[in-house]
Amino acid sequence: MPPRPHKLLRNAEGKLDAKSLNWPMFETFAASELGEGSERARKVFTALWQKGVRSFDEVPNVARTALKKFDEAMYIPFLEPELVLKSKDGTRKFLWKLEDGYTIESVLIPDGDRVTLCVSSQVGCAMACTFCLTGDLGLKRHLKPSEIAGQPMQVGRLLDEGQRITNIVMMGMGEPLHNLDNLCTALETCLDDKALNFSHRKITVSTVGLVPKMGELAERLPVNLAVSLNATTEERRREIMPITKKHSLAELIQACKDFPLPSGKRITFEYVMFRGDNDTLEDAARLYEMLKDIPTKLNLIPYNENPEREIQRPDQQWVEDFREYFVERGMNCTIRTTRGLDISAACGQLGKAWAQAMDRGWLEQARAMAGMGEAPSAGA
Ligand code: SAH
Repeated sequence: MPPRPHKLLRNAEGKLDAKSLNWPMFETFAASELGEGSERARKVFTALWQKGVRSFDEVPNVARTALKKFDEAMYIPFLEPELVLKSKDGTRKFLWKLEDGYTIESVLIPDGDRVTLCVSSQVGCAMACTFCLTGDLGLKRHLKPSEIAGQPMQVGRLLDEGQRITNIVMMGMGEPLHNLDNLCTALETCLDDKALNFSHRKITVSTVGLVPKMGELAERLPVNLAVSLNATTEERRREIMPITKKHSLAELIQACKDFPLPSGKRITFEYVMFRGDNDTLEDAARLYEMLKDIPTKLNLIPYNENPEREIQRPDQQWVEDFREYFVERGMNCTIRTTRGLDISAACGQLGKAWAQAMDRGWLEQARAMAGMGEAPSAGA
């Protein structure tokens, strides 16, 4: 499949973004445009993703004349870390500067043996969920495949010795299914053993419920699905998640029932809890009824409060009692621990806080303050 046109797929010199092609696209391009065979293309592709070469002449074991052809047709984009913030709890937030000056974020969450990277799919977001700060930005643009897969690649290279990303969750800025083509191309590179070599069991795509795209994702990739529910009635969900006006809650639940799950797999349902709003016993009962016939992992997320919203999180005991309702009935239900609150890396905090930090010149301050900001070493 030829790459979909994207204005940033070519740079100012007209060269193609080498990392926005998955392997089949790369192989086809090498053959049809450069007259280079599969074996050479594979060496170049692997060097891009596994060695992190910055120019084609660094690719090992390929003739210079061939590399020159690649170099004339393609360029190698690199996500540059603008800043890395470290939380007291070990969470790290990476701020990346994109080619056109926009910034996006990834969050690394180490938790015992599990090291999860929360990856962004868009600059901003068009979904406008009322409680989410990323939504306030609106959609600036989709991320290219190289900018999506570049996040796990680059974080992997910046990790401490012996540390490795074990899981990828598409739960950063943006609605991944709104950028499905680029997402799939990027995830194919994440899954490819010639590139980042992740297992499909370790990749989760989270959606507000773009119903028609859910089936399409399942057809294209065998990754895990997470759905952000956040309300138990049509009325309330329409108010807080406007996408519900297009695809109703009922339609979304039906799509989850129809979702082709391999045996043993479950759909993760994220349920952000707002105090005195969606956290009542009636909500628990409706939520249970809604999900009881679906292989479910229910993940309760106590709302992360922020100065821009009046919304409050329920007390911890309340959240635990709410969870008990599901556990007693045999439903898999967990509470998401809040991580990285002190660096605005927790759920729903991405994007906006950064925009403000930049406005306030806070970025420079953070860099200057030891222990708070860590400017990555040059060339890292
Ligand atoms: N657009 C996708 C991917 C983003 S995931 C989706 O909505 O699923 C981000 C998750 O954080 C979503 O489940 C969202 O409901 C949740 N969220 C947003 N703001 C939050 C906040 N302030 N506190 C806790 N969770 C929040």
